[in-house]
Amino acid sequence: MDHPTQFDVIVIGGGHAGTEAALAAARMGCATLLLTHSVDTLGQMSCNPAIGGIGKSHLVREIDALGGAMAKATDQAGIQFRVLNSRKGPAVRATRAQADRVLYRNAIRTIIEAQEGLQVFQQAVDDLIIENGSVQGVVTQTGLRFKAPRVILTTGTFLGGQMHIGLSKSAGGRAGDPPSNTLAARLRELPLRVERLKTGTPPRLDARSIDLESLEKQWGDEPRPVMSFLGDRSQHPDQRCCWVAYTNQHTHDIIRDGLDRSPLYTGVIEGEGPRYCPSIEDKIQRFADKNSHQVFVEPEGLSTNELYPNGISTSLPFDVQMELVRSISGFENAHITRPGYAIEYDFFDPRDLLSSLETRTISGLYFAGQINGTTGYEEAAAQGLLAGINAALAIREEDPWCPRRDEAYLGVLVDDLITLGTKEPYRMFTSRAEHRLLLREDNADLRLTEQGRKLGLVDDERWSQFSEKRDLIDAEQSRLLRSFVHPGSPSAETLSSKLDKPLSREYSYAELLKRPELEYADIAALDSQGIHHEQASLQVSIQAKYAGYIDRQQGEIDRVRRYEGLSLPSDMDYTQVLGLSHEVRDKLVAQKPETLGRASRIPGVTPAAISLLLVHMKRRQ
Ligand code: FAD
Repeated sequence: MDHPTQFDVIVIGGGHAGTEAALAAARMGCATLLLTHSVDTLGQMSCNPAIGGIGKSHLVREIDALGGAMAKATDQAGIQFRVLNSRKGPAVRATRAQADRVLYRNAIRTIIEAQEGLQVFQQAVDDLIIENGSVQGVVTQTGLRFKAPRVILTTGTFLGGQMHIGLSKSAGGRAGDPPSNTLAARLRELPLRVERLKTGTPPRLDARSIDLESLEKQWGDEPRPVMSFLGDRSQHPDQRCCWVAYTNQHTHDIIRDGLDRSPLYTGVIEGEGPRYCPSIEDKIQRFADKNSHQVFVEPEGLSTNELYPNGISTSLPFDVQMELVRSISGFENAHITRPGYAIEYDFFDPRDLLSSLETRTISGLYFAGQINGTTGYEEAAAQGLLAGINAALAIREEDPWCPRRDEAYLGVLVDDLITLGTKEPYRMFTSRAEHRLLLREDNADLRLTEQGRKLGLVDDERWSQFSEKRDLIDAEQSRLLRSFVHPGSPSAETLSSKLDKPLSREYSYAELLKRPELEYADIAALDSQGIHHEQASLQVSIQAKYAGYIDRQQGEIDRVRRYEGLSLPSDMDYTQVLGLSHEVRDKLVAQKPETLGRASRIPGVTPAAISLLLVHMKRRQ
């Protein structure tokens, strides 16, 4: 049988963006090829073995709600699960899992290999076939040609990758992997803006050389959270403890003394690093008044002694790394198994992309993941999923899809990137979403699974579990509105110990649930008719308790939406818009926003300019 060379969609790169992109396109019925350096590194975590966290778990749940792989793989690989911000409001609560690196990779590979319509081929891509401004396929390192009208590029940190340890540098996509230099050179010939960014990773330690007994212990939460909406605790492997250590003044002195051999501080590295995940040398410079920084000591997996000291990412020379590690209490005899390093790589200005993640200048070519200036597995996977969806929609000759900012963090991520661009590795935070009370991690399925089903991403099993949950929530909410507690009744007696004062009138269960002193379990205990579905009862509770805020936020969204989605034609002549300043006009011409909402978020485009545009568009109609 001939090796097939013609596909609907080709995905380059088998990292977090690439695997979700390939799975999404194949789930939507496209003949899909995933080309990657090594089949063994599908779903490889380049840096810390953890998924989720604030803002990031929101993305993971959205990927899951749309049928993606990341949350499922996390449930099969997670060796410690916690809910961060558990005492704060539901908008900022976030699930985080420490993952076994090998189990995670295996879980992703198993999902990929089980996906119908998806083929994997191990080979580096060196060139794109572009004809008349549209992509037609790719050429691999050995000269093999694969054709497809849609190509998704997800090459992560590999394009022109340059690794630094002290003043010594070497070419690489990440430690142990080659860079993609031929492809990087080819891409630099295309009409796309390209710049450099950098990121870094800490040295890894041998657990047998660390005095773990002397460190602060940190266990996972009980009851143990799950990552996927379909997740089940019984899938989780054995759970592990993490620890917390601290840098001290001596550590900081060692780092300061080594800065003259730091690639960051001697100007060898030019790319901007991640502001929210800085190296330890950055931290001691930026927070010079702090005597100590936390180091989270996390196991890399169940079958290894390696530990990941989260918080001391560094590119200082190895001898300085050794000294700084050993200055930390509990690490006095530490053996480093792998040195920390920084990596610089090419990324493309995401303002050159449409909201479908297709490039504006080369039809059929999509970019997703770290190549767009983001950092993090979750941000990459979310973009990959979206690019896969849109490549498949294009094959079906249907309109592209991207959720709005008030529908999903995925919408916030893409809108931020394509409207504002980025000068430093972009990571997601709940603070980036103006409607975060609506975009909770707990309701991602209620926001997105129906859309996922329409797109063809959600299989029957997920759909039936989701439908059952949604129906339970609806039924329980109506029951709570119809059920009452009367003053002096046995139910009122039962509640009295929890309430500040006795009930003065008849209250519906729904009204009672709004009270901060009462939980859903208290209401459910009043009769035997409450629901026992963990996720559904959580929804009933959150939706009741935050109803006022949620309604207010929805009202704001409805007001803004009136103009947010108004399309601005790509050939719009901004010189015809009366009253626009030169500066605003230049920005609009340069960025060609697709909608009025996007125009409003371009820095420097004032509300007054938006009104002028609105008037102009109304006149045109
Ligand atoms: P990657 O996961 O990098 O995957 C790219 C894939 O493309 C790989 O499989 C590669 O083999 C393949 N590939 C590349 N070129 C080609 C080609 N020409 N042909 C075929 N296949 C190709 N994130 C954080 O959130 N916090 C951190 O502290 C952090 N530190 C990091 C430190 C280091 C040293 C590195 C390397 C990354 C770090 N990251 C960090 C980033 C995180 O690893 C990435 O955000 C994430 O992996 C990006 O996913 P991706 O799918 O875009 O790319």
